[in-house]
Amino acid sequence: MEKNIDAFDFNQPKKITKKWYQLSNKKIAKILDTNLTTGLTIQEVERRLKIYGLNHLPQSKRHNFLLVFLKTFLDPLCVIMALTGLVTIIANSIEEKFSMPDIAGLCVIGIIILTNSIISTYQEMKSLNYISSLDTTQDTFVSVLRDGEIQQINPIFLVPGDVVHAKLGEFIPADLRIINESVLKIDESSLTGESEPVEKIATIIKADNLIISDQKNMAFMSTMILEGKLVGIVLKTGTHSEIGKIASKITKSEFIRTPLEKKTKGLTIRIGIIAFIFGLILLLFSFFIRNQLPEDLKSWSTLLLLAVSAAISVIPESLTIIVRLCMTIATKKLSKNNVDIKNPKSIETLGNVNVICSDKTGTLTQNKMDIDQFFVDLKAEKDPSVITNNKHFLNALALCNDAVCENTEIIGSATEVAIIKFLMKQNFDYRKLRINHPRVDEIPFDSKRKMMTTVHQDKNDLILYTKGAFDYLLKHSTKKIVNGVVSPLTKKDRNLIQEQSFKYAQQGLRVLGVAYKHLNSVYEEYETDLIFIGVIGIIDPPRPEVKMAIENANKAGVRVIMITGDHKITAQEIATRLGIYTDYYNQVMDGAELDTLSDEELAEKIKTTNVFARVSPEHKAIIVRILQANNNIVAMTGDGINDTPSIVKADVGIAMGINGTQVTKEVSDVILKDDNFKSIVFGIRAGRNVYEKIKYSISFLIAANISQVLTILFILLINKDIALISINILFHILIIETIVAIPIGMQYDRKGVMFNPPPSHKKESLLKGIKMQIIITTVFNATFAVLNYEIVKLFNAPQIFSEEFSKTGVYMTIMISPILYSLLFNNFFLPINHAGVVKPVKEKFSLNKRLLFFSCLALIITIISLLPVKKINDFFNFKTIDLPWELLAIFLVNTLLVVPCIWFSYQIFLKSKNLWFTKKSKKIVIK
Ligand code: ADP
Ligand code: MG
Repeated sequence: MEKNIDAFDFNQPKKITKKWYQLSNKKIAKILDTNLTTGLTIQEVERRLKIYGLNHLPQSKRHNFLLVFLKTFLDPLCVIMALTGLVTIIANSIEEKFSMPDIAGLCVIGIIILTNSIISTYQEMKSLNYISSLDTTQDTFVSVLRDGEIQQINPIFLVPGDVVHAKLGEFIPADLRIINESVLKIDESSLTGESEPVEKIATIIKADNLIISDQKNMAFMSTMILEGKLVGIVLKTGTHSEIGKIASKITKSEFIRTPLEKKTKGLTIRIGIIAFIFGLILLLFSFFIRNQLPEDLKSWSTLLLLAVSAAISVIPESLTIIVRLCMTIATKKLSKNNVDIKNPKSIETLGNVNVICSDKTGTLTQNKMDIDQFFVDLKAEKDPSVITNNKHFLNALALCNDAVCENTEIIGSATEVAIIKFLMKQNFDYRKLRINHPRVDEIPFDSKRKMMTTVHQDKNDLILYTKGAFDYLLKHSTKKIVNGVVSPLTKKDRNLIQEQSFKYAQQGLRVLGVAYKHLNSVYEEYETDLIFIGVIGIIDPPRPEVKMAIENANKAGVRVIMITGDHKITAQEIATRLGIYTDYYNQVMDGAELDTLSDEELAEKIKTTNVFARVSPEHKAIIVRILQANNNIVAMTGDGINDTPSIVKADVGIAMGINGTQVTKEVSDVILKDDNFKSIVFGIRAGRNVYEKIKYSISFLIAANISQVLTILFILLINKDIALISINILFHILIIETIVAIPIGMQYDRKGVMFNPPPSHKKESLLKGIKMQIIITTVFNATFAVLNYEIVKLFNAPQIFSEEFSKTGVYMTIMISPILYSLLFNNFFLPINHAGVVKPVKEKFSLNKRLLFFSCLALIITIISLLPVKKINDFFNFKTIDLPWELLAIFLVNTLLVVPCIWFSYQIFLKSKNLWFTKKSKKIVIK
């Protein structure tokens, strides 16, 4: 048996064939050379730290800029372009001629590859840094037994052999063997993916070869305690732990491909196939009519380069960058508006949400509570001075209360803070009372029992105080105290108390009852046979901005459901004020009723139920499940540890930044920094805007690209001429894809997205609702480009214009029109929503300055490329020297006409769709 821990093998004790879970506590203590009652000594800890290192998971590597940069060159498109370049060089050197356009093409290929790489690297670095900035875990502490006493230390200093104490809500700090536990349940989903909590034990397991989830007497690093507590011996730390082994294999960047990115990738691939076909047709046909082509375009390398460039140009390669950019911008903006996106994909999911399940207290309401009215001695009171002589009432409020006053600030849960504020107003010295009545035991408040009990020393006696939901408390009371006299609680009394409580609830007050009883010992049952003292009604007004936010959510087709532990009547009153409880959603359900319903019945009822009262956290998970089963995309808020299952289950799990527990924040997708419901709606708007902008970009890119290739194909087929060669196409890619398209994705957020229903389904095609835009734009752009060409050819017969200018016209329209119609996006192309239904929204015309700037830049570069200079003309393979002004005018008119033509046809299209829509289903539109 090893005495020497240095020789100890992390994975398997030497000479011992048994596994950790098969060994007894004593044996483990012996192997790890530790003492279970005093723990390790500080000297020993220091020694072990040197051997085993700090207890942390592999830090996400500092992202190497160069590596990320080089990686971008592996992009298939880059490879294709580079290969094409190579082929061109080889072909040119075989033919021993270096044509100007070919060289120009090569240059532009180089520029495109480089610009693409630089932008992608920038984006990639940004999102990688964002991910690692989320990595930094907050300062946490762990209780560990060292030198005979329990100490609070940072978990990174844990070593094998340490004896750790942990309880509900805490993360397991290292791989442990459990040596003691009580009602322990652990969520191991972070390790095993299993969402059901695992019940743990502290006894030896005989079986061999157990998988992780069956090792019930072990607790693993970074899993979370959902219930109970444990004592454990640290076996493995840091990278040696089970999660550490996994973490070192996976690089963080693999987690950040969001569905939207995957969707755009899918679309790009599909367009790529079309592009390939286009390229092939172009190649075959141009080879076929090779002999009829002008001399300088005949060489096969030129034709190959043309076909490949055309194919590449069809693919919207900047889309990936645009998606990333949109998300980064949205994430930043949301963060400024109190919404922290933890999981990058939740931005887009937010846009898809059609049901928000929200907590009432603190999220819909202000959480600034005040005692408004009370009912003691079976009398309703508003004037506090009346009850200052009711000893038990004030004692209960002061003692059964965890809030404390530090300096001038009262710290604690809002409910209890309200109570202390009330006592302070009566000049009641609750501190002295607490000193004279030390707390000897307690049962903390939990949202399932909805009560809290404390036991106090009262001179030589024990006295117990309970406060909690009045209906729950009444169930546990058998007596009452009125004017100092204790008597049985009759049916009439109960009715009276209930009636009064309902009256308070109808005013939207939170109603809490208080009770007490004398105890002989702490072994008696606590929360039974209580003596009822009275109730208090606490005001918790709705947040003023929430009503509007709910209205906006409803307009956007998003339903808001209130979930609360409060009483049905209170909930209904607040819900009515906020517009959650309406003529249509006119049902309120409580947890007890929910328990009696089958899934089918609940699914049916939930259709008209917006208010769930007196629920426990488990009910939240059921509600999410039922909503999801009926094709809803659900956002769910939560604050407590018990909310984690429902937060994990929801499509978007939202944790409260202020009132939320650390664990809830840890498992959530989104954190609301201000706990405010309004911010959720803001998040939905941002999510939808991301989606919409990406659609604009797609629509623009496809239209501009396809119209170019169609023009080339058309002229090749009809006129047996090559209107644009590779250099023109590549230049088009450079200007349109990089300079113009990217700012389209960086538009201002539009409020109008919130006047449409959410996208019908997660799987909805990205092209939904924009097909007509693409078709109209493509048709007009290509038509006018071809028209320019044909006009010159037509007038060529009587020798009015030289045929040389035909390609100039094509180039002008293909380049300049997209720059102009790019400005239509987000002002003009709005009315089509994700679902493809037209619903005009009046929105202020806003020019995006960024887009305007880049469009001007693109325009200037294009104009420079059109200058009548011999070198430039040769470079681009068209002629502007001696261009007759009449022809220039015609070209310009044709180029400028594209925009109004698109606009006009699109209007007609919208009108027709509108007519069709209102005729067929007027009512649906208005809903
Ligand atoms: P919610 O957060 O939805 O308002 P809670 O679970 O906080 O619901 O509270 C449910 C009920 O439990 C309240 O209506 C109140 O009667 C009671 N309650 C709330 N806080 C306390 C507390 N600190 N002590 C005793 N009872 C409480
Ligand atoms: Mg609560």
